[in-house]
Amino acid sequence: MVKSPFETPEEHVDTSPAVADDVKQTTCYMCACRCGINVYLKDDKVRYIEGNPDHPVNKGILCAKGSAGIMQHNSPARLSKPLLRVGERGSGEFKEIEWEEALGLASEWLGSIRTSDPRKLAFFTGRDQSQSLTGWWAAQFGTPNFAAHGGFCSVNMAAAGLYTIGGSFWEFGEPDWDHTRYFMLFGVAEDHDSNPIKAGLGKLKTLGQAKFVSVNPVKTGYSAIADEWIGLRPGTDGLFVMALIHELLKAEKIDWEFLGRYTNATWLVIDDPGAEDDGLFVRNSEGAALCWDAGRGAAVPAADVSANAAVVGRYTLPDGRVAVPSFELLAKRYLDPSYAPEAVAEQIGLPVDTIKRIAAELAEAAFEKEVVLDIPWTDWAGRRHERMVGRPVSMHAMRGISAHSNGFHTCRAIHLLQVLLGSIDCPGGFGYKAPYPKLIPPSPLPAGKSVSPNTPIAGMPLGFPLGPDDLLVDDAGQPLRLDKAYSWDYPLAAHGLMHMVIHNAWAGDPYPVDVLMMYMANMGWNSSMNVQGTLSYLTDKDPETGDYKIPKIIYSDAYYSEMVPYADLILPDTTYLERWDCISLLDRPISSAHGPGDAIRQPVCKPDRDVRPFQEVLIDLGVRLGLPGLTEEDGSAKYPGGYPDYIVNHERSPGIGPLAGWRGADGEQQGTGSANPDQLQRYIENGCFWTHKLEPSQLYFKHSNRDYLAYAKQMGWIPTEEPITMQLYSEILQKFRLAARGHGKNQPPEAQRARIEAYFDPLPIWYAPFEEAAVEGEGYDLHAITQRPMHMYHSWGSQNAWLRQITARNRLFVHPETAEKNGIEDEDWVWVISHHGRVKGQVRVMHGVNPETVWTWNAIGKRRGAWALDEDAPESNKGFLLNHIISELLPAREGGTRYSNSDPVTGQAAWYDLRVRLERCDPAEASVTEPLFDPVKRPPGAPREQPAVLRYGADLKGQDNPRSDDHLPAQEWIGNRHEVARTVPGVADGRGNQKREAAAPAPSVPKTEVTPEGGV
Ligand code: SF4
Repeated sequence: MVKSPFETPEEHVDTSPAVADDVKQTTCYMCACRCGINVYLKDDKVRYIEGNPDHPVNKGILCAKGSAGIMQHNSPARLSKPLLRVGERGSGEFKEIEWEEALGLASEWLGSIRTSDPRKLAFFTGRDQSQSLTGWWAAQFGTPNFAAHGGFCSVNMAAAGLYTIGGSFWEFGEPDWDHTRYFMLFGVAEDHDSNPIKAGLGKLKTLGQAKFVSVNPVKTGYSAIADEWIGLRPGTDGLFVMALIHELLKAEKIDWEFLGRYTNATWLVIDDPGAEDDGLFVRNSEGAALCWDAGRGAAVPAADVSANAAVVGRYTLPDGRVAVPSFELLAKRYLDPSYAPEAVAEQIGLPVDTIKRIAAELAEAAFEKEVVLDIPWTDWAGRRHERMVGRPVSMHAMRGISAHSNGFHTCRAIHLLQVLLGSIDCPGGFGYKAPYPKLIPPSPLPAGKSVSPNTPIAGMPLGFPLGPDDLLVDDAGQPLRLDKAYSWDYPLAAHGLMHMVIHNAWAGDPYPVDVLMMYMANMGWNSSMNVQGTLSYLTDKDPETGDYKIPKIIYSDAYYSEMVPYADLILPDTTYLERWDCISLLDRPISSAHGPGDAIRQPVCKPDRDVRPFQEVLIDLGVRLGLPGLTEEDGSAKYPGGYPDYIVNHERSPGIGPLAGWRGADGEQQGTGSANPDQLQRYIENGCFWTHKLEPSQLYFKHSNRDYLAYAKQMGWIPTEEPITMQLYSEILQKFRLAARGHGKNQPPEAQRARIEAYFDPLPIWYAPFEEAAVEGEGYDLHAITQRPMHMYHSWGSQNAWLRQITARNRLFVHPETAEKNGIEDEDWVWVISHHGRVKGQVRVMHGVNPETVWTWNAIGKRRGAWALDEDAPESNKGFLLNHIISELLPAREGGTRYSNSDPVTGQAAWYDLRVRLERCDPAEASVTEPLFDPVKRPPGAPREQPAVLRYGADLKGQDNPRSDDHLPAQEWIGNRHEVARTVPGVADGRGNQKREAAAPAPSVPKTEVTPEGGV
């Protein structure tokens, strides 16, 4: 028999060559999802990153961003040493200093204001994941001026949920992917909850038993794979949802039993216009809300399970007052013909039939496809239920609906819809993630009303007001916080208003600050509205003193972002692979609807630069400043081991610390227990996470499930085992309204009464977004919004060597009808003009967008010189930011007051209210974006020259398999231009960098731009 040449016995192919000499597990930070990763290391360098198959968040899935963590970790934009400004702000002129000098300077600046007026520190962070530390640090310092990025992200979503159902979407809850039959996604791009949603959608497609409807003006990403895309007009989602509610009420397709048992639908509301208790709940002497028992003909506690509670009607109480069940008010509101599909369809931009059909489909899924699980459970009142019956409609919403000035009410309307269908925390519906559900709203009030030198404030700076008495205002009703959160301007600003901090600090409104300290927030560019104005606020000087109006700016970041040149003192942070982190139940953990979970990051590499994790720096500064929580009585460090020491040994309340797993001296306790010195080791052994699986009887109806409530209390998440009653009608909002009507000891200043009266309706309302209303009739006929590509996350992602190869510039996407109407063709350059300014970008015509809307990718456009990109990088020359034309202030209205461009209830930044018109550019203006800012200087310590092509890992690969270069194309990055390079085997420049072939793109190489449909 003739031997095949492929069977030569001496030939050996190693199909599993050793690629690493160590593998460490940690948590990804390339976006906010917190997936588990396995990092393969060779000679202490990252060789490869893969998803951790055992991790509860991603179960092994790794997205493009996660893999590209290598290039984030090795980014040429990394800062390498503390910097002190030596030139003018914005010049980028710094000198390198030692850490001791940097920390000495910071503690000197901070120490002097702590001993005089701690409010003069404004401490704001971006999308960091250590807010339980940073917020607590601010409280220890004694300033109320703290918040993170939530105010410009999705606080409307969070606050609306927490004030309505005691939870919300994403970190607060998730769809029951296994059982749902109808999934509605509102306003979601791809950057949040990335892998879990992708996996969930994959499951829906695989099981084939659910319809997926995406409501979004843009058909990209998730919307592109939806079974139905609802491309409505931006800012009208609330009206759409209220029209659905109208249809469901009309058809009586609502879950009466769910409403009666778990919501305040039966609670009696006092109907006495003009009275000080008008619109409040009828309560007994113990403060318990009452319902009308139709059997007894009397008002009885709503918690009395024997009552035959009325949901409609009008009842006279023994004291003569008249009251109605809150459901009566709700039904009256949404059955009004003004919410009928016929009345709202044109405004929403949808056919009447579509609205009616979606309502019918929701009803069909909820009531004709109910999911029944044979799992017995016991409710809070001790009633045993043999089965768990679910209404399998699930929903998820995010920034697209949140970032409007009508977002709070829209988000509340979505929760109302879920509640009316009975689809909260039931099989097939939306499920709470621990530690939610919490009390409605959660218990901490915002602290900071009283501020004293050298004294912590009385609680955490962020919290949830229960009424006007909890606002942070002075006796004249004026704001006590720099960002005006919790003032009459934005009473329920649960995440603060970071987008107003720089403006207010510059304006000294309501007061000047001395130190602005920020972490991971690119406020000098894509995290600010009105970039040009923001840069002028940062550099403006008092003409009399010659001092900057914002006297001192401390900034910590890992990268040379656009914000860095505008700070005075730079504290360089590590990358996420070089530090400890704690993804805590005190903040935003990794729980699922099946049980709680938290996680850590451990350093998998040592920094090769003189950088320190910001969390370590905060703890060090806390000791230098003598903050009580961080020092012993003798002034020594309470956590001498730094951040890991704090993670293990800090207790927020007795027995409750940053991590819930392996507590107690022997590590056998969960949730509560004394500190365990081996805790971090136990996390590392378990893949850097901890989870607990709920018992089947605890899995659903958590708001009223006796076993779950007992567990939640034991874990310290809720104060009692009382059920959590969903608040369709919000008495808290009504209390603000009553104050506006002249009741109570704390009332809004005269100029704000009408605003509070209008926007603190106890039932969700819809109104036109503020900017739309303000510029009506001025020719700004289009909405302009942004989306995030799934392969990038904020400005970190769009500077990443590998991810830039997918998208290195953004286009303005325009519907063909809109293009034609404006005389614009594909590839044209246009001016996008708002009431605030104009920006230039290049058009790509696409069908998958609402015709009254134009959109672009966010945070691709960069300033020349920043992020270690070359000055002719496409990001800075062709990419553009809509931020330039979004004002942080609304046009003057309501008695001349200029409010911020925010939701009036929560202060959420209204990014998506932007209205624009398009003008085709003169051909001479084409090809480069405008405004084009001066390049920023490279920081000291940065290499003078960047190689044109950056390459990573060739040396590692060569050691493993010397032949690999022959047949494996190396991954590489074009350092400064948007030309597509091809590898040239064997041609290297001697520094490990592959040399680029001819500059012009070769015809065979595909364009690396995003197609109109959002694919790549
Ligand atoms: S989804 Fe986010 S956290 Fe998960 S792997 Fe991708 S970038 Fe990392």
